[in-house]
Amino acid sequence: MALIVQKYGGTSVGDIEKIKNVARRVVNTKKAGNDVVVVVSAMGDTTDYLVEMAEKISKTPPKREYDLLLSTGEQISIALLSIAIHELGYDAIAFTGFQVGILTTKEHTEAKILDINTSKIFNELKKGRIVIVAGFQGVTEDGDITTLGRGGSDTTAVALAAALKADLCEIYTDVKGVYTADPRIVKTAKKLDVVNIDEVLELASAGAQVLHPRSVIFAKKYKVPLVVKSSFEDDPGTKITEEYMEGLLVTGIAVKTDEAKVSVIDVPDVPGIAAKLFSLVAREKINVNMIVQGTSRNGLSEISFTIPKKDLITLKGIEDEIKKAVSCSKVTYDEDIAIVSIVGVGMRSHYGVAATVFNVLARLGINIEMISTSEIKISVVVRKDKATEAANALHEEFKLSEVEIKTE
Ligand code: ADP
Ligand code: ASP
Ligand code: MG
Repeated sequence: MALIVQKYGGTSVGDIEKIKNVARRVVNTKKAGNDVVVVVSAMGDTTDYLVEMAEKISKTPPKREYDLLLSTGEQISIALLSIAIHELGYDAIAFTGFQVGILTTKEHTEAKILDINTSKIFNELKKGRIVIVAGFQGVTEDGDITTLGRGGSDTTAVALAAALKADLCEIYTDVKGVYTADPRIVKTAKKLDVVNIDEVLELASAGAQVLHPRSVIFAKKYKVPLVVKSSFEDDPGTKITEEYMEGLLVTGIAVKTDEAKVSVIDVPDVPGIAAKLFSLVAREKINVNMIVQGTSRNGLSEISFTIPKKDLITLKGIEDEIKKAVSCSKVTYDEDIAIVSIVGVGMRSHYGVAATVFNVLARLGINIEMISTSEIKISVVVRKDKATEAANALHEEFKLSEVEIKTE
């Protein structure tokens, strides 16, 4: 008998028929002789709808109450799924993050899981029950409800699988697995049968929505066997492994459109300016992604960096403080950018990949505004309306639609 954690995303539980479909799948896994723990997201666009309602009232809702609101979506879906499983004649019990004891940090809207009380789950499994857990949420030691960041149900599932030492964690979604690019952006994207965990982590962090980045970090740290599958089709999905496909230079392309570029203009080109600037940004708990410092002219230079769009309002709130601290002439904000990234472990041992990327974009007349690289990733900032064209051209250049599909 195996212990399997299954996670079903928002589209997979988008309406009552789909919830019934998930119930059947869960019951089939149970019937096959497994212990099953199920994590579900909120139905369809429920979380977006909740966000919209809060934003109609306030541009800066108190984060504690915002979390309390956003966590309700998952409470609906766990209850409905449990009812659907009972209707099929099987015993199930649904828990919110609070009820099951998913302890998190206090960082509302971006909380991190610290601990999971597994005894309650094991007790219920022993009784033969299917255990359903609300994704995306937890509770602080003070009893406040937290959420784990948008897309965080994946992380709940993998963290649960790690804590329960599950034999397998299956992430069920609306596509067949991890593709060479978002199939919504690149129509010729191919599903990968296996993908290296470091590549998936880079892709997820670079905007590939299919897995929440922290879920991949958990999978790597606790060696959770992880697979991404479709909840609508029977396909073996994508296995996340430590291995990688030999001979492949680039494995995937990701596009991120939820970041904005901030430019701090005419800062004195002297030691300590960047330290002052980014200390202030860090004090506001804002995550900086890319940073570029322009060349110095007349002793003045420009520092540009990208941050999540959702944090712009906070940054704008400390603009005067920044101006005073770094003596700049002005701060500008640009929300019309996209970050296009190519990822591949193969880059470690090959030269010329960056040159190829720049040549492809040059040929299309697409201006590169910022560049950053890691050992296995190259990211460029381009105008948002050029991102699809850039991603498709790079996908073609690296022949990703010709990736050989490995069958097991
Ligand atoms: P869920 O609600 O199941 O969590 P998400 O919408 O969060 O689903 O993630 C699945 C979506 O991620 C897909 O519909 C797809 O458009 C997008 N996506 C982006 N990059 C990739 C990729 N490399 N492989 C597969 N899907 C991707
Ligand atoms: N419902 C949450 C969201 O929409 C969590 C998730 O779907 O993973 O972000
Ligand atoms: Mg998701």
